Amino acid sequence: MAGTEIVELAKRRGFFFGSNGAYGGTAGFYTFGPQGAALKRNVEDAWRDRFTVAEGNQEIEAPNIMPEAVFEASGHLDGFDDMLVECGECGESHRADHLVEGATSIEDAEALPGSEVELLIRDHGIACPSCGTPLAGQDVEDFNLMFATDIGPGDSQPGYLRPETAQGIFVEFPRLKEYARGRLPFGVTQVGAAYRNEISPRGGLLRLREFTQAELEQFIHPEDDEPPLWKVADVEVLLYPADEQEAEDGDYVETTVGEAVDEGVVGSPWVGYYLGVAQEWYERVGVDMDRFRFRQHLPGERAHYAADCWDAESEVDGDWIEIAGFSYRADYDLSKHGEYGDDAFTVFQRYDEPKTVERATVDPDMATLGPEFGGRAAAVAEALEDLAARDPDAFEADAVSVEVDGETVTVDADVANFSVEEVTENGEHVTPHVVEPSFGVGRTVQTLLAHAYRVDEVDGEERSYLSLEPALAPTDAAVFPLVTNEETLVETARSVANDLREQGLSVAYDDSGSIGRRYRRQDEVGTPFCVTVDRDGLEGDGPDTVTVRERDTAAQVRVPVDGLADALAPLLAGEDSFESFLDAYETVDSGVETQ
Ligand code: AMP
Repeated sequence: MAGTEIVELAKRRGFFFGSNGAYGGTAGFYTFGPQGAALKRNVEDAWRDRFTVAEGNQEIEAPNIMPEAVFEASGHLDGFDDMLVECGECGESHRADHLVEGATSIEDAEALPGSEVELLIRDHGIACPSCGTPLAGQDVEDFNLMFATDIGPGDSQPGYLRPETAQGIFVEFPRLKEYARGRLPFGVTQVGAAYRNEISPRGGLLRLREFTQAELEQFIHPEDDEPPLWKVADVEVLLYPADEQEAEDGDYVETTVGEAVDEGVVGSPWVGYYLGVAQEWYERVGVDMDRFRFRQHLPGERAHYAADCWDAESEVDGDWIEIAGFSYRADYDLSKHGEYGDDAFTVFQRYDEPKTVERATVDPDMATLGPEFGGRAAAVAEALEDLAARDPDAFEADAVSVEVDGETVTVDADVANFSVEEVTENGEHVTPHVVEPSFGVGRTVQTLLAHAYRVDEVDGEERSYLSLEPALAPTDAAVFPLVTNEETLVETARSVANDLREQGLSVAYDDSGSIGRRYRRQDEVGTPFCVTVDRDGLEGDGPDTVTVRERDTAAQVRVPVDGLADALAPLLAGEDSFESFLDAYETVDSGVETQ
């Protein structure tokens, strides 16, 4: 199904639609309708179950607005840019790199300098997609994607809406490590909004200016911590490594997570571990694994600090879209915040046994430094201490030189009172490395809709339905009276719906239109079970029964009303299938549909 059709279906059936329609609409902002909000919540809950709870991680919730200093440290202020080219004729803004990728065989134009992209635009005669005017001669500029705001009135301080949830975790590391009692490895997750002032939002939920991320920051000891790779070693994955992408006859690598790590196709065992966990999770939530792959970032594509980086990609409407990123970020984030922030972004790792080590120290003679350097004496002493730690051999000379306030000062080596002492150390301060699986929730929702969409024929009529996993479907069950002009049926149906709701199911009640039409409405939004109250089920000597119809097969069985929620529970949790209902209960001729 074409992407535009998904977006149309999503709008028609209450999954999502462009926001602020009454005011002309605002590109890049989408509102989740009742079905979509429920589906999105279910995706988030499934993610939490797997990446927070099952992994023994902790979830936090940080503010969406953060002060400028955070983004100075993180590098976003300087470098979180996309390439912008504006049409000289109609004024429309476009992603210059995307235009070049569309018109050439270049796959990663983002990695090229702006001047080169300008030349490519000229040489390939690339025109404005909106009005057709050639863009040759237009400047390609770096456009920072962060939304700026002010924090407080008056002399307020600049702030930004976070462009990723991750920073809210990194900046709180000094406190979060306390909660983890200073022990590595530990993981912190966050599910929340991220904001990017995208140059050209597109594709429904695919490229938005406000979107939801589910991120996990796994803090590890760079040398000592190993992931429990054995848990996913046998998980089969389809990999598209960078060298295969670059080779002329490059191909996918079908392998297992264990092999991929052993053979170095995936460089980091931690990244490998999360690829395995993600593969299983995507399958469980209903992504079509024939339309799914892991693609490694090309060298020019990945951030300079990321040692290895893979994207989970799903095929939607003929295009591969990035739905999650997995990167080994080394100590980049924590070192940066350690440098710019006032707290310690390290953990103290206790050794199993205390170690005796030699440590070079100085004890500068302040009675000499004071008169000689005045107010700068303390800074000179500090510079000598740094030098001793860095380059103890320097103190073998008669004089040592250090930099203070950009000036070289030289002192007699004796003044430093240099010595090497034996000290016992119980541990060391380590800057943890970070492994980050980062999921886009909206892109997952759109993938699920695209992959679950089916068309078939029931009772000689074409129908479309969403074959969503029951655990993810927005509504668990719909309840109908077969006909609406019989009071007992209506009353019983209402009370069955209420009972199911009281037992925690999300239930739609519908008594408008023909029963066939009501089934279709539920099929279209992916409701896995329709419960119909008919006269046959209420008459007779036995206990009251209803029909339960399964969405994908349209098969129906007659089930006692009493205990219905309990009977449905394993099916809704994905622990059992409708097959067991077909075995356990009397099958009903689905001719009931057309009544
Ligand atoms: P990134 O930090 O760019 O790797 O983004 C992490 C994840 O967030 C991606 O894999 C996407 O699923 C999602 N994402 C990034 N940008 C957007 C956007 N503009 N709209 C929707 N989802 C996005």
